Amino acid sequence: TIGMIALDAKGNLCGACTTSGMAFKMDGRVGDSPIIGAGLFVDNEVGAASATGVGEEMVKICGSHTVVEMMRHGASPEAACKEAIRRIVKNNGVNAKNVQACFIAINKKGEYGGYSVMKNFSMAIRNNSIEKSMNTKSWFS
Ligand code: ASP
Repeated sequence: TIGMIALDAKGNLCGACTTSGMAFKMDGRVGDSPIIGAGLFVDNEVGAASATGVGEEMVKICGSHTVVEMMRHGASPEAACKEAIRRIVKNNGVNAKNVQACFIAINKKGEYGGYSVMKNFSMAIRNNSIEKSMNTKSWFS
């Protein structure tokens, strides 16, 4: 998946989410990417979030919507992503460290962040002064 979330010069937010699908998926499987609130959610009053990884995990927690709602209630983008990841980790118990899941988020002020279960999920950032790629923080190091 490639998730793209952006804030334009007029302060409007937008987002998009692709999917690579999953290897050996069931016929008819619908991943998180096309489900608004799971793989992608944008509220122009608050922020935008997108996810990558095992789509079923994002669907179960309405992941991207959860991230945006956390930001609505004052969480930073990174903290909001971390809370969604915490729920996925909790849902998976002892198997959590093998779950691929990552969220990225941006708020109305242009603050951004990301969080993943495992390490090595990358996030690219571009604005007037920054053009860089970095790994998100992760629950397990
Ligand atoms: N999130 C996608 C899916 O479950 C997989 C991916 O990360 O590309 O469909």
